[in-house]
Amino acid sequence: MNQFAAHVGAGNAIDLLGSFDAQQLVDAGANPTRVADWKGVYEVYYGKTRFSRQQANAVRVARQTAKSLDQLVLIEQRVRKLGTEKEKWKIRLALLSVRGNYETLKRRAKDIVPEVDTPAPESSVRFGKERKGKRTFSATGDASDIAALEYALRRNLDANRPEGPQMYEAFHDLLHNDGAVADAVPRPLVQIPLPDYISILGGQGDDTILGLSDGTTMTGAEYLMHHHSKDLEVALFHPQAGPVNLYNTKRFANKKQRDLARATLTTCPVPDCRHAADNCEVHHITPWARGGPTNMNNLSVLCRYHNRTNDDDPDRNNRGRIQMRDGTPTWISPRGTPVANKTHQYGAMHLLFGK
Ligand SMILES: [Zn+2]
Repeated sequence: MNQFAAHVGAGNAIDLLGSFDAQQLVDAGANPTRVADWKGVYEVYYGKTRFSRQQANAVRVARQTAKSLDQLVLIEQRVRKLGTEKEKWKIRLALLSVRGNYETLKRRAKDIVPEVDTPAPESSVRFGKERKGKRTFSATGDASDIAALEYALRRNLDANRPEGPQMYEAFHDLLHNDGAVADAVPRPLVQIPLPDYISILGGQGDDTILGLSDGTTMTGAEYLMHHHSKDLEVALFHPQAGPVNLYNTKRFANKKQRDLARATLTTCPVPDCRHAADNCEVHHITPWARGGPTNMNNLSVLCRYHNRTNDDDPDRNNRGRIQMRDGTPTWISPRGTPVANKTHQYGAMHLLFGK
């Protein structure tokens, strides 16, 4: 054995370990993480324990099988998660008895160390930070949900292309299908007062200025030119009734209704609330449970927090509630005063009619 091998304790590590001194090693420039591992090993074989018979036995077997320091560290890593001290000593001795190099021990450990039964992970979603325009998210959930997602993403794979990017494309389509997830980038939406719309369609729209929800404007003539572009959507607003109704008998608002609700107000209507309409829920002003329809004249965007605190119950009046005033969802204080949210006031009814 050459000097270096002797130095790292090849063959007699268990005896060298007897003179272990953490501080000396750190002072001598050793990596503190490794020193902490060695300290753990030192305490197992030379520290105080109720299992002194097993300890003495372990030192003897480690010497017999010429365990290296790295192997002793590996053994501690493998027994760490086992339940009781008694169980740990039993498995430790079994591992110490294995003859051979590091890789042999590692391989044999797979058979010797019982799998620890850990509880099922909790269902959860994590979002990572942005890096170079990309972000990562991961989800843990019921096996059946994840299997259904995997099935949906794998359905139309092209065998000639790598799977991952294709599954992402399918995932992207799934997210944006029927507005399931609102685009982070707002699409331009043309807001047109109803009487102007009629004159524009009659070909008299050259001097009508229309407001887009991204803060730009276009003339009626330009609108007609773009009318068939799929990137541009049109929402009609009546000066008193607000967004033109789209009747629906379903509990949940459809995509058009959600778009209209977001065009009507670009933020949650509660004064000073900064939650953008895209991150808001669509709220039934008269609750669905109380017979409120899923019509535009009964829908408002409302952030998650204010949707929970809104006084839905007509008998309760301590946090204020949303009511429809002249086609605009408006927060009414507990004392009955309507108060507009002046934060980012770009809603259609405000832009078109100054409400
Ligand atoms: Zn809010």
